[in-house]
Amino acid sequence: MTVYMDNAATTRVSDTAVRAMLPCFQNLYGNPSSLHTIGQEAAKALLSARETVAACLGCSFKEITFTSGGSEADNQAIISAARIGARKGKKHILSTAFEHHAVLHTLRRLEKEGFEIQLLDVGSMGTVTAEQVAKAIRPDTALVTIMYANNEIGSVMPIAEIGAVCREKGVLFHTDAVQAAGHLHINVREQNIDMLSLSGHKFHGPKGVGVLYTRQGIPLTNIIEGGAQERGKRAGTENIPGIVGMAAALREACDRIDETTEKVTALRDKLIAGLSQIPHSVLNGDPVHRLPGNVNLCFEGIEGESLLLLLDQKGICASSGSACTSGSLDPSHVLLAIGRPHEVAHGSLRLSLCEDNSPEEVEYVLREVPRIVEYLRAMSPVWKDLMNGKRKFML
Ligand SMILES: *Cc1c(COP(=O)(O)O)cnc(C)c1O
Repeated sequence: MTVYMDNAATTRVSDTAVRAMLPCFQNLYGNPSSLHTIGQEAAKALLSARETVAACLGCSFKEITFTSGGSEADNQAIISAARIGARKGKKHILSTAFEHHAVLHTLRRLEKEGFEIQLLDVGSMGTVTAEQVAKAIRPDTALVTIMYANNEIGSVMPIAEIGAVCREKGVLFHTDAVQAAGHLHINVREQNIDMLSLSGHKFHGPKGVGVLYTRQGIPLTNIIEGGAQERGKRAGTENIPGIVGMAAALREACDRIDETTEKVTALRDKLIAGLSQIPHSVLNGDPVHRLPGNVNLCFEGIEGESLLLLLDQKGICASSGSACTSGSLDPSHVLLAIGRPHEVAHGSLRLSLCEDNSPEEVEYVLREVPRIVEYLRAMSPVWKDLMNGKRKFML
């Protein structure tokens, strides 16, 4: 049995998206900038995809820029807002400590250029409040960038309230909605969102394609220079198959959102209830304001990587918060941001579900995870010290 529960990393492309993409390779293969018929047919498909995405977000098609994914959209949104701010002498940017690295590393670059980056505390649940944002905004604040939902621990931010505060104070508001798009109801107008990033491959669309929504009147700075595509704001011949597939996937996800949420939430809650029975474990993220498909727990006395390898041997594809990048043993910045001690943060497990997961798969995972945790603990010197009192339990 193969159980794929790593949908926050990426999703399987849906039949609907594949069907929409196939004609783009050999029939609608033209360059949308070409004046001839074949090119103009591709241009029509591009416009139609743009209108579909705009309808799903509640904005105008003129406010949609297609990018190479969520990372590029995050980069362009933040750099653009920083340039706008700098022209008015505003160099303060508000964000949080548990953003995706596409946001954090862009902010780090701006910090080197002289911007002041302030990261709001996300508390033990991994959320920020609109009051925190209101208090932290200053006359020189150029941008507030706060993610819609966290990719590791699944907590969902009060985006409409944060948007209202930013609008009232006249500060640009960007949200990385890569984990939210297609999974939660989004309306950029009602939620006072100025800029929003999303990525096709997180809702059963293809990889390598994303969207930056920018409210009309906000000037974008190019990240990719060249031709006049995307109103001159993002050069490069458009990825028509990717864009068309992403639009089809987003349309389908948004049409089915309530049905999917009900199904996936039930599976999620079953997993959380079952895995929380494991002694010395803790749920990460907000139990209520949570993505329908996110399960994330820490188990004391184990290494997340060992757990993942043994789960993989049982056909279970999961992830751990502690992404050991190139040999560094740093635990997840997200788990550290919610106050988990290093030792605990190392023992994390993220299961991210989608509508294709079944109750049988959940049963299987609920049988295997406790066995593997017990096995790993039995071999662990740390666990031995915890059991004989040489070390204190943290959970
Ligand atoms: C996946 C992800 C990204 C990056 O998107 P790509 O399309 O892979 O570049 C950015 N932010 C969040 C929250 C994500 O989950």
